[in-house]
Amino acid sequence: MKIRNTILALGIFSILILVAAQLIIIRGIWNQKDELFNLRYRLFSQDALSRMNRIWSTDGFDTARFLISRKSQYILSDTSMIKGDSLSSQSRQDLIDYVKKVLYMEEDVSQFLSKEFERMGIDKNFKPKIVVNRFELINQDQTIPVYLSPEFAKRRQPRPGEGRPQRGTRPVMRQPGRTSEILVWGGRNENNYYRLDFDYIIDFKDKQKVVLKETAASLGLSLFSILVVVSLFLVTYRNLMEEKRLSNLKTDFINNMTHELKTPLSTITVAGRTLEMPQIRSNDEKILETAKLIGKQSIHLNQLINMILEISMWERTQFQIDKKKVKIEEIMHDIVVSFKTGCGNCAELSQKYNFNGISVDLDIVYFTTLVNNLLSNAVKYSDKDPVINIEGYTEDNKAVIKVADNGIGISKADQKHIFDKFYRASTGNIHKYKGLGLGLYYVKKIAEAHGGDVTVSSKPGKGSIFTVTIPY
Ligand code: ADP
Repeated sequence: MKIRNTILALGIFSILILVAAQLIIIRGIWNQKDELFNLRYRLFSQDALSRMNRIWSTDGFDTARFLISRKSQYILSDTSMIKGDSLSSQSRQDLIDYVKKVLYMEEDVSQFLSKEFERMGIDKNFKPKIVVNRFELINQDQTIPVYLSPEFAKRRQPRPGEGRPQRGTRPVMRQPGRTSEILVWGGRNENNYYRLDFDYIIDFKDKQKVVLKETAASLGLSLFSILVVVSLFLVTYRNLMEEKRLSNLKTDFINNMTHELKTPLSTITVAGRTLEMPQIRSNDEKILETAKLIGKQSIHLNQLINMILEISMWERTQFQIDKKKVKIEEIMHDIVVSFKTGCGNCAELSQKYNFNGISVDLDIVYFTTLVNNLLSNAVKYSDKDPVINIEGYTEDNKAVIKVADNGIGISKADQKHIFDKFYRASTGNIHKYKGLGLGLYYVKKIAEAHGGDVTVSSKPGKGSIFTVTIPY
């Protein structure tokens, strides 16, 4: 149990490490593909923009700039709007709204980019986004601030000892926050009336899908390798457990066999010593009784040894049976009657047959062993006076034999294994019920060798019903 848990824990731990490693790798690949996508579109956009500059001699914002400049000029000329070197907050809001609206409505970049992307055969489904970072009016030497985005202000904050940024320095480019956004253009526009910093961004809503498609192969391989490792682990673990179960079964079998062989052997030994005693030697009746006992125990010993030998022979060669057509009802009747006499009326036995006089191809010796094993189990696994009902009938070209007892019953978990070689239900090697775990294995093998099968239905404490079917 301890080893089993350790192996299980170690296996799960290793699989988790593998999954974590694969996740890290996939994440790396994803980020790489994502970055590559951005880079690709940034480069394509730069190319498109320079083409636009060459063809139209514009960066696509000329009209917007013209309108903003005219509006700035108008406001600067209206002295009622400017108090000292500032604008009222309402005017500032109106002005920045106007700037944003004009930038959105009058830009020609998106249309051009879309056409260029289409021409290059790449995804053109983007949404343009314009982010105004700063807008200032310029009244001769005086700067009238209108708008400064908090993010931009933070980024332009001078580091200690750096001093204020110089006029005309390259503006700080905004890094897009969302991963599907690609910064195409960011910069400053300035004339005598205003100074404007803004970014032009394109947002691909299908970017994740594209990246996923490009990562799919690695993702698939990763999942596949995880699946292979998990399946391998499960198969190995199952085999290991199966081997352990078999080795336990074998140990149990050896214990049970030793016990089974010892009983008749010690009886024979004691009987032998008894025969040596002078008072017995003079008593013919006692000699005969002891000789019979020795004979009976020798037969039992022989049966046990044959059983083991036969099983090891079945392992190596095909199960050979010698079938001939027999009236099944007659055979069943004979077997049950001789079992009852053989066990000294050990059980209350009832028989009910409805075979319609059919004949079945049977190996009588093996078939007798099959029925005897079922009957002796019904007697053996009983905690009260055994009552056994034997039923026989035909169904779908098969002879059906049911052996029902009022014994201790079999749990659901044990029912799955009772026909396995050496398997003994939870009584294991506790010798309350003697046995080698071979009886039902025999029954199944014999039924199968006749082209049939055996099943069980049982409830602990309520008895069991074994059903054998043999085609005819
Ligand atoms: P054995 O009797 O030598 O243990 P078998 O192969 O005949 O081996 O039976 C396997 C196990 O099935 C037994 O250990 C017993 O627990 C269970 N079993 C078989 N027949 C019966 C029955 N009629 N009632 C209850 N348990 C049974």
